[in-house]
Amino acid sequence: MMRDYSASTSGTLSARMRGPAANVLDAIGNTPLVHVDGIWAKLEFLNPSGSIKARIAKYMVEKAEKEGLLKPGDTIVEATSGNTGNALSMVAAAKGYRMLVVMPKGMSGERVAISRALGAEVLEVGYFHVNEALAKARELGQKPGYFCPAQFESEWNVEENRVWLGPEILSQLPEGAIPEALVMGVGTGGTLVGVGQAFREVNPDVKLIGVEPDESCTILCGETGRHAIEGIADGFVPGIISRHRTLLDEVVAVTSEESLAEMRRIARQYGMFVGPSSGAHLVVAQRLWKAHPELKTIVTLFCDEGEKYISEHFHDAAANGGRIEEEDATK
Ligand code: PMP
Repeated sequence: MMRDYSASTSGTLSARMRGPAANVLDAIGNTPLVHVDGIWAKLEFLNPSGSIKARIAKYMVEKAEKEGLLKPGDTIVEATSGNTGNALSMVAAAKGYRMLVVMPKGMSGERVAISRALGAEVLEVGYFHVNEALAKARELGQKPGYFCPAQFESEWNVEENRVWLGPEILSQLPEGAIPEALVMGVGTGGTLVGVGQAFREVNPDVKLIGVEPDESCTILCGETGRHAIEGIADGFVPGIISRHRTLLDEVVAVTSEESLAEMRRIARQYGMFVGPSSGAHLVVAQRLWKAHPELKTIVTLFCDEGEKYISEHFHDAAANGGRIEEEDATK
C-alpha cells in the first residue's frame, strides 16, 4: 500500500527552473506534488502571484486575446475575493493592460496591497462576500474597452483546470497510481470541477468532494456567514457549480477554527507557509481517509501562501509558534 507519512516530493521543480523564463508568466505551473500525512498535496501557493489563480488568469486572458475580446490598451475588470485579483494584476502588468480589481472590504489587507503594487486599481464594493463586487464587475465589463473574465461563470475557468492543472497532477502521481478522491474548497468551483473532469477520464469512480466553511455552508444549506477561510464560500452558489453540481459526490463543511489550526501546523511541521483554505483541505482529506481507509490516492491542493494573511493570522507570538522572549529563555 502506498502510504508515506513523510513530505516527499514528486514534483517537477527542475522543469520550472530550466532555462531563463522569458517572462514571469512562463513560471506559472509545474508546481510540486508532495505527500503530506498520506495525502497528495499540489503546492499551488508556489505560483507567481502566490496562488493557484495565476493559472486561470493567464489562461483566460490569453483565450480572450485569441478570440479578439481583449486588445492593447483595454482594461481587464474582475470581481474577486483577492487571489484572482492579484493574479490578473500580475498578468495585466506583464502584458501591458490596465487592471481594475473589484473586491469586497473585509478581506486581508495584503491582497489589496499586492494588486495595487502590481499596478492595478482596486475598487472596494460590498463587505466580505463577493456578490456586490460581482454585479459591479459585470456592469463595467459591458463597457467598450473593458473585458471581464467572469471567473465564477466562465467555462474557460473549468477548461483551464481540465486541460492544464488536472493533467499536470496526473503526470506527477507515481506510476500506476490513479486518483481515487479529490478534496477542494469551492470558490468559483473551477478547480474542483475542471480537475475533477480530468481525473474522471482516468478513473470514472474518483470521488469529488467539495469543501465549504461550517459558518457559511452555502451549497450545503443555503446559508452565508462570516468565516476565516478566505478564497472559498464567497456568498453565493457560483454558476460553475450550478451547472456541474451532478458531478460532485459530496460537499463537506469544516470550521474556520480547525482550518486555521491546521494551516499553522502545516507551516510548523512541514515548512509550508500556506493560507487557511490549505488547512481546510487537509483536515477534510484526512477525515475522508479515516472514514475510507481503502482510498489509497487522495489528492488536495494548497492554494495560496501564508504571506497574504500575516496581518490577520500571524502577528501575535502564539500564532507564530510562541516565540520565547530572551529573558524567559535564559531562566
Ligand atoms: N483557496 C483559495 C485560497 C482561493 O483563492 C480559491 C479561489 N478563490 C480557492 C481555494 C477555490 O478555488 P476555485 O475558485 O477554483 O473554486
